[in-house]
This record gives sequence, C-alpha cells and structure tokens, in this order.
Amino acid sequence: MIYLGAHLSSSAGFYKMGTAALDMGANTFQCFLRNPRGTKAKAVSPEDLARLRELLERSCFGPIVAHAPYIMNPCSRDEGIRELAVRMMTEDLALMEHLPGNYYNFHPGSHVGQGLETGCRQIAAMLDRVYAPEMRTTILLETMAGKGSEIGGRFEELRRVMDLAACGGALGVCLDTCHISDGGYDVIHDLDGVLAEFDRTVGLNRLKAVHVNDSLNPPGSRKDRHALTGQGTIGEEAIVRVLTHPALRDLPFILETPTDDKGHALEIRRLRQAVLSRSAEK
Ligand code: FE
Ligand code: FE
Ligand code: ZN
Repeated sequence: MIYLGAHLSSSAGFYKMGTAALDMGANTFQCFLRNPRGTKAKAVSPEDLARLRELLERSCFGPIVAHAPYIMNPCSRDEGIRELAVRMMTEDLALMEHLPGNYYNFHPGSHVGQGLETGCRQIAAMLDRVYAPEMRTTILLETMAGKGSEIGGRFEELRRVMDLAACGGALGVCLDTCHISDGGYDVIHDLDGVLAEFDRTVGLNRLKAVHVNDSLNPPGSRKDRHALTGQGTIGEEAIVRVLTHPALRDLPFILETPTDDKGHALEIRRLRQAVLSRSAEK
C-alpha cells in the first residue's frame, strides 16, 4: 500500500484535517501551518494536535508534510525578509514538535540577483539558525522549476545548500514531479536516469517525500504550473511509474493538483487503481 494523499486546503484545525484526509482515501497529507500568503500562525491547541497524532497512528498513516508559506524567502536581498523567514520557520518547527517524526518542507527561495552562491549561503545560514539537533522533524528542501532566480531548479543547488549548512547532514529533499519536469529533468521517458542523477548529486537516502503533480507546460519550460495527474504534459503513465518506482517505496506521495478535496479524492482513487493494475501486470 503506497502512502498517497493531497495538500489540504482546509484550515479547520489539525484533527479535522486528519479526518478530511481519511475521507478522501488518503493515508498521508500536506498542509500549511499558517495562512500560506500571510505570516500569521494558526491558533493551535495542544489537544487538537494530540488528537491528530492519535488518529494518524490508529489509521496507519505515513509521514505527513507541513509546507512553509510561499512568501518565505530565506535568500531575499532584504534582511528583514530573511529574518522573517527565520522567525516563521522557528515557530513552525516548534509546532511540529507536537507531531514528531514528520516533515517540514520549504522552497529554498529566490536569490533575486544576488547570485546562486550568495543565495545558497543565506539559505544555509537560516537553516543553521532554525535547526536544533534534538528536533524530531526533518526539514526538506523542495526541488523547484527554476523560474526567475529560484534556487533548487538543479539538484546540485540543493546539494550546495546541504554542503554549506552545518546541519546539512540532517536535511532531506522533497521531489516535485511538475517542478523537475519543468526544470528539464526527463521524468516522462527516463525516470531511472533522473533518479540516478539525484542519487549521484544529493543521495536517494535524502529523498523523503514526493509531490505528485502533472504540468501544464512542456519539459524544460521553467514555468511551474501544476495540472491534474493525467491531464498535463507528464501524463498518467509516467506518474504511475513514479508511484511504483522501487527507489521511492514508502515515501509519502502528495498531490498538489489544482482541484479541491473532492477532486483529490477522485484522483487518489484513480491513481490507486492504476497502481494496482500496474503491479498486477508485472
Ligand atoms: Fe511547494
Ligand atoms: Fe510542490
Ligand atoms: Zn509548484
């Protein structure tokens, strides 16, 4: 049984998100810990988190993924914005300690003309400020499409951040299929080759989660527009190869496709069916 779920749009509390995930046939999910475009953290009660924790255990969920707000940019040219990233991530990670053993994923950021190396150094510096060795959450860097001055469009860039951070050895990566296809990695025809390259540059042991998205744009477009699985340029066959690849076994697969919880429920059902028939073929 693969761990498959979706990014939940609801902000109705953590336990409610767990039940929403269950209702859609998911056994993992992703969520924001605060308004994704704002900075205000959710009002959280420890009881709510304890109930979610109990629900996840009882329902045999895989690890869940919290997603940092989009506005966070740890390699902004503006020091105030970099400090805000430190503050938000510190708060979010403190919250995640109530749900031990899960993931906190963030976009490395855009260096906005400062250059790749300066950007990587600023990201690494932020990570060393928010990381604590006793933390029970693994921080994940997301692979990006590489639009504009976005860092993370190449696996080497994530490697560079990990090499520059003192806590680099404790970091993981979340692979986004839309982003890497848009970034020019051939997910469609050469998944084995892409994963081999990831293994060489970052290490497959660092890969902790996968964002399963189709793309509205052709490979290499550096655009980052998600499509429903099977309705984009990647296509369902290639998506199912991702879901069934032995190197990705046991990772949480998260849909971030442009639909609501109902649409995600249908997508999850269809993909589980496709995974089953593919395993039956073999
Ligand atoms: Fe993301
Ligand atoms: Fe993503
Ligand atoms: Zn995206």
